[in-house]
Amino acid sequence: MKYYSTRDTKLRISSAEAIKQGLSQDGGLLTPESIPQIDTAFLQELLPLGYQERAARVMALYLPDYTREELLGFAQRAYSADKFDDEAVAPVRKVDDTTSFLELWHGPTSAFKDMALQMLPHLLSAALKKTGEDREVCILAATSGDTGKAAMEGFADVPQTKIMVFYPKDGVSDVQEAQMVTQRGQNVGVCAVVGNFDDTQTGVKRIFSDEDLRKTLADRGFFLSSANSINWGRILPQVVYYVSAYCDLVSQGSVAMGEKVNICVPTGNFGDILAAYYAKRMGVPVGMLICASNRNNILTDFLRTGIYDRNRPLYNTMSPSMDILVSSNLERLLFHLSGEDDAEIRGYMESLSKEGRYEVDEKIKAALQEQFWGGFCDEAGTSATIAQYYQDKGYLMDTHTAVAANVLAQYRSATKDGTTTLVASTASAYKFCDCVLTAIGKTPVGNWTELFRQLHEVTHTPVPRRLWELRELPRRFDLTCEKDKMEKTVLDFLQ
Ligand SMILES: *Cc1c(COP(=O)(O)O)cnc(C)c1O
Repeated sequence: MKYYSTRDTKLRISSAEAIKQGLSQDGGLLTPESIPQIDTAFLQELLPLGYQERAARVMALYLPDYTREELLGFAQRAYSADKFDDEAVAPVRKVDDTTSFLELWHGPTSAFKDMALQMLPHLLSAALKKTGEDREVCILAATSGDTGKAAMEGFADVPQTKIMVFYPKDGVSDVQEAQMVTQRGQNVGVCAVVGNFDDTQTGVKRIFSDEDLRKTLADRGFFLSSANSINWGRILPQVVYYVSAYCDLVSQGSVAMGEKVNICVPTGNFGDILAAYYAKRMGVPVGMLICASNRNNILTDFLRTGIYDRNRPLYNTMSPSMDILVSSNLERLLFHLSGEDDAEIRGYMESLSKEGRYEVDEKIKAALQEQFWGGFCDEAGTSATIAQYYQDKGYLMDTHTAVAANVLAQYRSATKDGTTTLVASTASAYKFCDCVLTAIGKTPVGNWTELFRQLHEVTHTPVPRRLWELRELPRRFDLTCEKDKMEKTVLDFLQ
């Protein structure tokens, strides 16, 4: 199986090359030229297997350049017991008769980005070998909090790689900053930027398009790659957990083999829900895909009207990882729904960059509405949902997951669809102690370490070990730069 671009279907590159490149040179997203099909017999075979074996089998369907043994080795290292604090890796928790939560936050940074960013470095370093690449890759990331930490944690001390993360000086939470400045690894760098997230992201984009800088780096033996990405190597490990979760729902007796489940996902860049779409297309019995947004409800509007319009304000919410106006991965979905029509996609994306909006044709709109239902939830609804699940069902969730749970309730009351539903739970409540304590009627008291203790004492849930240990870790990085000095920071880092 080869990969081509959503903006050029004549291109053909190998799976290893697709992972190494990350983004196609034409600006499109690299996508498998066909979607492998599985059946209930395949799922049946996965039932007795552990998460790591399931991951190797599913990924092998998409990565002909990698052997299944190789992939199993990667999965064993990426999802090992010293990295994930639950044996199941991504456990499925049944909360009531028709609702289960897929907990994707048991990894080292307590957010779902670990599921992909623990695997990507293995796929990428093997891809460098397979494609005969002898330069070193430098991953650059601008982060509003979660991605940068998860990427560093994944790439720390991986041979032939370096990683530099920029974050806005006053734009991340205390916990997130502590997670980043204490990062271990000889190949990592962290720098605070005087400015907001936009300034930081603009700076990183400027570095990527700076030809002179690229040349200087190439002379020193480096090439740049991104972790804020739409890299296929980030989507594929996410397909795995939907396939695996379906098996768990069958094992737990929540559904019979072959029975459909709905999937509800708190959505930002559209990566996580896109992975659920691929699982459905592969043949996992999935009904409706419920796309949940916070107050930044551009996707809700899009799914209802077929018009994507980014000309609107961006709000800061208590679910910051979903505060986003351009959901990059949507391009892959439109590509598939258009019947893999690259010219049509080029048209939409051109219109998006020129006018900030596009309207899809009737065919795509009909296909979207047949498979996706979009809804959104405001701040009060997010808090109320955390409180309601905690009080009525004894289940504690973070602010992002609460957006999904709230939208699921809206979907059920609008459609009367009683299908068993899997909700993607994307972060530990301990990453957002402040909002979660307030939501369940407590007044947060003290600094972030005291809030860990408070949330633990109130709810008797375990504090994730790696978050708890942050209190004692030495601060390794103290670098700050002006927003127009980021190039120099990178040059100094890559001496
Ligand atoms: C990144 C993130 C999301 C959004 O996922 P996308 O793949 O960008 O749609 C949701 N919740 C949390 C906690 C996240 O970190």
